[in-house]
Amino acid sequence: MVLVINGAYDDSGHADPGHPERPDRVTAAMAGVADLHLGSDLIAVAPYAATRPELARVHDDGYLDELGAFCHEGGGAIDQDTYATSESWAIARHAAGGGLAVIEELQRRDDGVGFIAARPPGHHALADRAMGFCLLNNIAIATAALLSQGERVLIVDWDVHHGNGTQAIFWNQPDVLYVSTHQWPLFPGSGSASEIGGRRAIGGTVNIPLPAGATGDVVRRALDEIAAPIIDEFSPTWVLVSAGFDAHRADPMADLQLTGGDYAAMSQAVSEYAPRPGRLAMFLEGGYDLAALRSSVSAALSSALGLSATIEGTSSGGPGTDNVERVKHERASALETARSIHGEGSTR
Ligand SMILES: [Zn+2]
Repeated sequence: MVLVINGAYDDSGHADPGHPERPDRVTAAMAGVADLHLGSDLIAVAPYAATRPELARVHDDGYLDELGAFCHEGGGAIDQDTYATSESWAIARHAAGGGLAVIEELQRRDDGVGFIAARPPGHHALADRAMGFCLLNNIAIATAALLSQGERVLIVDWDVHHGNGTQAIFWNQPDVLYVSTHQWPLFPGSGSASEIGGRRAIGGTVNIPLPAGATGDVVRRALDEIAAPIIDEFSPTWVLVSAGFDAHRADPMADLQLTGGDYAAMSQAVSEYAPRPGRLAMFLEGGYDLAALRSSVSAALSSALGLSATIEGTSSGGPGTDNVERVKHERASALETARSIHGEGSTR
């Protein structure tokens, strides 16, 4: 199977000295791709900047105008964590466009797996606000493009942080199922199991918060026991992954204990949720330890492509096994409450 990636675009101008969200991250992710030695099975699409109408499916016009003008005037700090430079507007539009171009190529081929190694990342960006290193919500922009074609999109967000932006954007969208595993409590603070979607999409958000120290066995069990039956019923026509690699045990930003082997196992699971080849794309989100990022990208992609690769083992034995039952319980009671208020508006 081919791997379709976004073509290289110079992102060195989106940088802030000492900031962990830095250009080296894409270099490391692409080294992980190179380690797969795919030869002619590696397809890079031409760099592409998302157009205004493509961005405006997700982001408010006022915010897009403001962000463009802010960058044009030289940029600076947007909040405590998030920055933009004079080049960030062009770079962020190319990150969003990378996802659109990769998806279009997968559709054209009706085959392959997509990987978008672009930055800045996207899943914290809201319709009207930058947040958490994110300016434009790349995976949401890709999802919105697919929705405009009548597709039903599963988003699996395995970044260690909750994708609050993506959740909020599709909160009331019945054709999107958002599933997130994340450490909790942790930035941005949202993502409890009782957040299940808005009144028009009750059950369309599935949050699986995990305690610090949790290992891969818990994540896999949560995906199998909580997410898989809901995904089966939703029956997605596309699967997009917010592939953050900051849940790796070496990552400096958080305290989950995943390994490359765990990323391979999660990738295997999400590949099986895709209805057929050419309907799975992974978007780079977090991942701040460069060596772990490289090896985890390689592990996740080799598994999605069905290649055999030498991958570090899976992890087990950490805390959180009782969490799976707790999450099921909290979700069930939130669903019951929502349905008693809004009626049986949802099948999920
Ligand atoms: Zn993250």
